[in-house]
Amino acid sequence: MLIDSPINLLSMDRNAMESYFCDLGEKRFRAKQLLQWIYQRNVIDFAKMTDLSKSLRKKLSDEACLAMPIIVSQQLSADGTCKWLLELKDGNCIETVYIPEKDRGTLCVSSQVGCGLNCTFCATARQGYNRNLDVDEIIAQVWIANNALESIGVGGYFDNRPQDDLETGDFSLTDQRRPVTNVVMMGMGEPLLNFESVVAAMNLMMDDFSFGLSKRRVTLSTAGVVPAIDRLAESCPVSLAVSLHAPNDELRNKLVPINKKYPIEQLLAACLRYVGENKRQRITFEYVMLKGINDSPSHARELAKLLEDVPSKVNLIPFNPFEGVHLERSDSRTIDRFRDILLGQGIFTIMRRTRGEDIDAACGQLAGDFHDRTKRSVHMKQQKVVFS
Ligand code: SAH
Repeated sequence: MLIDSPINLLSMDRNAMESYFCDLGEKRFRAKQLLQWIYQRNVIDFAKMTDLSKSLRKKLSDEACLAMPIIVSQQLSADGTCKWLLELKDGNCIETVYIPEKDRGTLCVSSQVGCGLNCTFCATARQGYNRNLDVDEIIAQVWIANNALESIGVGGYFDNRPQDDLETGDFSLTDQRRPVTNVVMMGMGEPLLNFESVVAAMNLMMDDFSFGLSKRRVTLSTAGVVPAIDRLAESCPVSLAVSLHAPNDELRNKLVPINKKYPIEQLLAACLRYVGENKRQRITFEYVMLKGINDSPSHARELAKLLEDVPSKVNLIPFNPFEGVHLERSDSRTIDRFRDILLGQGIFTIMRRTRGEDIDAACGQLAGDFHDRTKRSVHMKQQKVVFS
């Protein structure tokens, strides 16, 4: 006899879970209870969910599951950065990185197995592409990070919140202090090419009965999938970061090939639509500093001119090298000079410190381990991009 595989409740946001319980003939509020057990108390064993009736717990155990990826490895950097290699249900592996700072803990979450965009300076691109992640695989990264960090006492954002009483279910929504206070969709993959699942997972991260992050604390980073930026504005207006990396189309076409499809002018117009009337919102523009390629004073002036009418914040990222790449990081004097030119033109600019380098957890170094359907990993070994 063929038995249906159990449904993974991690793939459901609150709406989906409410419908699920209604279909079971249960009250809608069961969804909120279940979300709290999973995401606020780290409990994924139905038998321990004591405010659900015994018969409901039994029914859930019979027909549903809360299946997480397997932690293959957990590496802790000297600077507190933590990286996990996670094995998914199909055997592919992805990476997730936690970056603790003084007042917050940021989790860098992957959205795809690999990436299809082929940006010249990115390690993930070299690995090729396999598939989109499902909602459960995206939200599980946040669950696993919080749970793992709490169990080893890393994070530093816990206060003395009372031990939740698992028996009575006595639990307050407001005294949450979790290691993960911010999420950036900046891991492996292009999140806007996995739109539905990424939006459902981000809604779950922001749900008060789940991790309760505010939309200011959830950032999506895109290489510039213009139509999806507009869709995001309508359906889930989180903070937006754009990987710009070049001040003109000629150079950006080489560094970020999707620019050939959606050139800078269209991209910036979409950014302006994204902020709309909201005077307080700015777009973060990421700019990876590549020696002799995009880091000259004239590039800086061109960038300042480009962004003069866009509410922006520029994030200069020192290039992180990886095996087989021919590019180099700009030296720190060049980066400082670049930053000063932008600041002099009134562009809010910061330099991102490189974190977790000793465990290959820095930006652009995430590679995972998966079957490359595109065979790009083979071709890339022979390819060398020429910059004039
Ligand atoms: N596809 C999305 C998210 C993944 S990349 C995007 O393009 O925004 C996350 C950030 O890391 C991007 O700004 C990307 O350009 C940057 N990055 C990629 N490779 C890098 C490298 N080798 N060194 C420094 N930053 C890199």
